[in-house]
Amino acid sequence: MSKVSFHTSVDYVKGIGPDKARLLKEQLGLKTCEDLLNYFPFRYIDKSKIYTVSQLGNSSADIQLKGRITSLKEVRQNKKKRLTGIFEDSTGTLELVWFNVTPGLVKSIPLYEDILIFGKVTPFNNKLNMAHPEIEKLSEARLAPVALEPVYSNSERLQKCGINQRFFKKVIREILYSVGDQIEENLPRNILVDYKLISREKAYREIHFPTHYQDLQQAEYRLKFEEMFFFQLGFGLQKIYRQSITPGHPFSSVGDNFNEFYTRHLPFPLTNAQKRVIKEIRKDLGKSTQMNRLLQGDVGSGKTMVALLCMLIAIDNGFQASLIAPTEILATQHYNNIKEFLKDMNLSVRLLTGSCPASERKKIYKELKQGELHILIGTHAVLEEKVEFKNLGLAIIDEQHRFGVEQRSRLWSKNTIPPHILVMTATPIPRTLAMSYYSDLDVSVIDELPAGRKEIKTSHMTDAKRLTVFKFLRDEIHKGRQVYVIYPLIEESETLDYKDLMDGFESIEREFPMPEYQVSILHGRMKSADKDFEMQRFIKNQTQIMVATTVIEVGVNIPNASVIVIESAERFGLSQLHQLRGRVGRGTEQSYCILMTKSELSNEARKRIYAMCETNDGFRISEVDLELRGPGNILGTQQSGTIDFKKTDLVQDKIIVSLSKSAVDQLLIEDPQLQLEKNKPVRNFFISHHKHKFHWAKIS
Ligand code: ADP
Ligand code: MG
Repeated sequence: MSKVSFHTSVDYVKGIGPDKARLLKEQLGLKTCEDLLNYFPFRYIDKSKIYTVSQLGNSSADIQLKGRITSLKEVRQNKKKRLTGIFEDSTGTLELVWFNVTPGLVKSIPLYEDILIFGKVTPFNNKLNMAHPEIEKLSEARLAPVALEPVYSNSERLQKCGINQRFFKKVIREILYSVGDQIEENLPRNILVDYKLISREKAYREIHFPTHYQDLQQAEYRLKFEEMFFFQLGFGLQKIYRQSITPGHPFSSVGDNFNEFYTRHLPFPLTNAQKRVIKEIRKDLGKSTQMNRLLQGDVGSGKTMVALLCMLIAIDNGFQASLIAPTEILATQHYNNIKEFLKDMNLSVRLLTGSCPASERKKIYKELKQGELHILIGTHAVLEEKVEFKNLGLAIIDEQHRFGVEQRSRLWSKNTIPPHILVMTATPIPRTLAMSYYSDLDVSVIDELPAGRKEIKTSHMTDAKRLTVFKFLRDEIHKGRQVYVIYPLIEESETLDYKDLMDGFESIEREFPMPEYQVSILHGRMKSADKDFEMQRFIKNQTQIMVATTVIEVGVNIPNASVIVIESAERFGLSQLHQLRGRVGRGTEQSYCILMTKSELSNEARKRIYAMCETNDGFRISEVDLELRGPGNILGTQQSGTIDFKKTDLVQDKIIVSLSKSAVDQLLIEDPQLQLEKNKPVRNFFISHHKHKFHWAKIS
């Protein structure tokens, strides 16, 4: 065979003819030797142990047996052929079966010879059998003394064309033999030492043909580390690049507005966490590079006050500030709160949403352009091109997860020098996700709730207990409290959901009749003015019960509401449940969250409900959510493509994610341009393998 290289097409590898090469390309996307080397086994069979027929039970593991095949028979059923065989060892017999009988098949099966068979034993027709066993003659020397046998994922179609497990093992061995010496190290020596990583070459050999279980573990660790290292390096380099080409507005001073508000109008002492976070942000704002920061904090941790204080700093430095929320209700609420906080200060604040009348809009545009307006609060409407600021210095996005990178980037163009950006999460994001997906942002965390907050008591009830629940609500209302009753609204079955909501509303009205009780309803199909009217009635405590869909999910703040009942709670995701629960527990009273479900629950739903009853800690909830749903579902399909890692599992490999992150941070502090000789392998590898992936986040 001529000398193949890493980038040689698979056609040239011994044992891969043009037909197989075409199939590998078409079916598995494997074009080059490098691609094949990166086609890792998806599991391994432990061939160190040989079982006997008498030991067999139903198990999902692949096992190995030693014996002989003593008969073979073709069976026809409904025009379909299958081949069955009897396998015997000294303890008993096992049926073997092959579907898709091809002419060569019968010939390839050794009769009355000592063999090893591998496969999964499953019950079929009340008997245990093994389908499509892998057969190895004992007379054939093993390829190598391996204990763990790699298993490559493969389709039936490929298998029929001879691309089977044996094929993969053979060609990958061949490639390792001929191009193994081209597997260059791509991490610097110091990182290998500090993080106890084996060499890249060894890792590739061991991942395909592990000598021992420990070697396999080391290989997996090394390759996952490398994968996350380069992913995070991309973000890190991008951040450095962005800062080098996009200067920020240095907010050099903290002035009158901040000081006056802080000393005279602050309605409560800040928590230590709020103080710390404001310090971190101030430090960032003082630099002459643009801030891009993520503010993480649990529901009710007081992110809004942090936002306000930061906006005051912007104004003190002669800039305008904007606060953007995902829904009109939330934007309106922010507007009302902030107006109230600032009522004794001479600052102009306005609200811009989709339902703003044209005349109002015009006025806002004009004031904004002339710089008369200090703070603009709004929804996505703020992002529209028509909205021009005189001098936007800080944009704050509340409830980040509905905002993509792309939308963030639209804010950049709102000033010649892009404004500082602060994004605030609705509920905490798991650490690993923050570290990977959001690694282009700096992160601040509020890890403390304001003093005096009581744990919200959460309980799980089924429909059978409905009367008890109603009684409980009545008691709470008589104490002067208010209640939310939430119905799910999930788009696929919107009409049905509305029916549930209306039925629920009616039954609540029956249970809580006027004039003793007043019940409000709030949902997305209502006109904006009606929504506002109902919201105001509830805020003023003119109604005691608010029946609503998840429109109230995010951020609504009514401290006197102390009970939230969530109907069909099994249909909500964890972070949504936690968000909803956060609508109560905002005042000084003991608050309650009641999760109503049907009695039969799926396993996953049960785990969600259990987690809710067990903890109030949003950071903990977010970890459980990640475990249950996986990263793709948490970030949403649009964004999950960027975190589809080949080797790393963000749930299982948390530790590797954080180790590789610290390695990247350390390297970039020392060598932000990757100029040092020792980092040359990193630089070369990054340029050849990863650079192209980062265009999507290169914003300006
Ligand atoms: P979130 O972080 O969920 O957005 P908010 O900013 O809405 O939380 O704050 C929740 C409630 O706590 C609000 O009523 C707010 O005024 C109040 N709050 C914020 N900070 C403090 C504090 N340091 N002490 C007491 N109450 C606070
Ligand atoms: Mg909030």
